[in-house]
Amino acid sequence: MRIDTLIVGQGLAGSQLAWELLARGERVLVVDRDEPFTSSKVAAGIVTPVTGQRLVTTWRFPEFWETAGAFYRRIEAETGARFFHPTPIARLLANPTEAGRWETRMNAETSGYPPHTAGLDIDSGLFRNDHGGFEMPEAGWLDTRVFLEATRQHLLERAAYAIADLHAEEVAVAGDAVRWKSIIANRAVFCTGWEGNRNRFFDWVAFRNARGQILDLECDALAVSGERRILNRAGWLLPLGNGQARAGATYEWDFDEARATEPDRAGRSEVEAKVTAMFVPDTGFRVTGHRAAVRPIIRESRAVAGVHPAAELHGRIAFFNGLGSKGVLNGPFFASQLAGHLVRHEPIDEEVDLRRNR
Ligand SMILES: Cc1cc2nc3c(=O)[nH]c(=O)nc-3n(C[C@H](O)[C@H](O)[C@H](O)COP(=O)(O)OP(=O)(O)OC[C@H]3O[C@@H](n4cnc5c(N)ncnc54)[C@H](O)[C@@H]3O)c2cc1C
Repeated sequence: MRIDTLIVGQGLAGSQLAWELLARGERVLVVDRDEPFTSSKVAAGIVTPVTGQRLVTTWRFPEFWETAGAFYRRIEAETGARFFHPTPIARLLANPTEAGRWETRMNAETSGYPPHTAGLDIDSGLFRNDHGGFEMPEAGWLDTRVFLEATRQHLLERAAYAIADLHAEEVAVAGDAVRWKSIIANRAVFCTGWEGNRNRFFDWVAFRNARGQILDLECDALAVSGERRILNRAGWLLPLGNGQARAGATYEWDFDEARATEPDRAGRSEVEAKVTAMFVPDTGFRVTGHRAAVRPIIRESRAVAGVHPAAELHGRIAFFNGLGSKGVLNGPFFASQLAGHLVRHEPIDEEVDLRRNR
């Protein structure tokens, strides 16, 4: 079978790239291991314009937010599935340091970006609001499992999906083609997540991965309050309705790779503590689920994309990875850029270009 692009991995990266190549009229085949717990399947899928204790404005948020919103709405329209949920984030400042930082920032802020409310209107009978907060309307979450499954179905209907563990040793590059088993492609793009340097083509790319754990919760008080915004105070809480919620997450820089997707007691306790700190004392909740996976990180959460720099592979073997903890937001922008690069030789932003990681 002759195709244009063989995509290895159907996480967020491989899925986003597949859509962008299909939109450019390419024939693709996406090959995936179909594992139960991957970064994309475990992720909460939250998009936030302000991150962490330092209240940093997310890198290039306005343009990525616009691109991501248009991308997910387009795929929703094409598949009939619903997975993109624009939802405001209520940010609860956790301590006087954070409150001071936010005040300084607001005094210095001239652009008014990101959009935010002056204070936070929230049920103080349920949430701790002792240091104030603010609401960000330009935020939301992607139901990653629904997005991945809708993508998979779309690909299956076009005979463009296969379950396989692809070994780079089985990929031969000769002349203007890449061969893998009976497939002949113009190129192969590796979108294999945190293990992205465990193959002969990309063993020189340095990853600094972070394992993460999240919980599913049930909370009667949350059901009563009817709060549906995403809550953020040290950790995050994503209400799903009827008292159901997801909460996270841990960042584990040193972890046992053999047990990468096995949740553990320490991770559960850490997330429980974050949730407890969000609620007023004695708010009860039950843990109903617990999952772990590894975020693929190369340089912070900036994507890394491009063709292999070796002359003999150039244009035949490519890479899309390093989405870190921002795959929902950053992925669509760089998937589009990489697709434009592969198909029409359009430029890739220097700051994400794979060649910078040599
Ligand atoms: C706990 C947690 C919470 C997170 N929360 C958020 C969040 O709120 N917002 C956000 O934007 N991001 C979040 N993330 C990060 C987000 O999940 C990642 O940015 C994104 O999933 C990375 O996607 P990926 O496709 O690069 O990798 P992956 O999801 O790991 O996908 C790689 C795919 O390649 C397949 N594969 C690997 N090797 C092979 C091979 N040899 N042959 C065939 N297939 C192969 C794997 O099976 C997998 O399906 C979170 C991550 C975690 C772990």
